[in-house]
Amino acid sequence: MKFFFEHKKYGIGEHRETYTINYDFLKANEDIKDAEIQIDTIATVKTNSVLFKFKIKGIINIMCDVCLDYFDYEIETEATLHVRFSDRYEFGQEDLDENNTLTLSKNVEKIELTTHLYDFIILSLPIKKVHPLDENQQRSCNPDFLRKLEELQTQTKTIDPRWDKLKQLLN
Ligand SMILES: [Zn+2]
Repeated sequence: MKFFFEHKKYGIGEHRETYTINYDFLKANEDIKDAEIQIDTIATVKTNSVLFKFKIKGIINIMCDVCLDYFDYEIETEATLHVRFSDRYEFGQEDLDENNTLTLSKNVEKIELTTHLYDFIILSLPIKKVHPLDENQQRSCNPDFLRKLEELQTQTKTIDPRWDKLKQLLN
């Protein structure tokens, strides 16, 4: 799955485009089982640059770090990408700096957004991915797992330190 923006076809001005992302696009990430994401894009095309503003919204079915079951994580984020064209760059040569400014050759006919969109989505995921709280402020993790955790916690014997770590994650 590849995503392009055909700036030369659109020409100078402001243009809107919507990219639809599904599981296929994200399956390289093993924690993800399903996805339905829409990226509304506003691209401002100028003679030597394009400024992209992305609104990323949707649902990713992702593995819980605590109970290892999958749950729907709602993603809603924004990102920008500034592309500038240089006549000192060869076709195929590119450079992305720390401010999300991408430099491409002036001869590029369409801008490939594939890896950038992938990175924006993956970077928007939380470091700690855990089932949300339910209406009773309880973790909605796998109930069997929670029961087992509870049992282990009530035992006075030495507890496997991994369970302690999981308990911390849950609190
Ligand atoms: Zn969980």
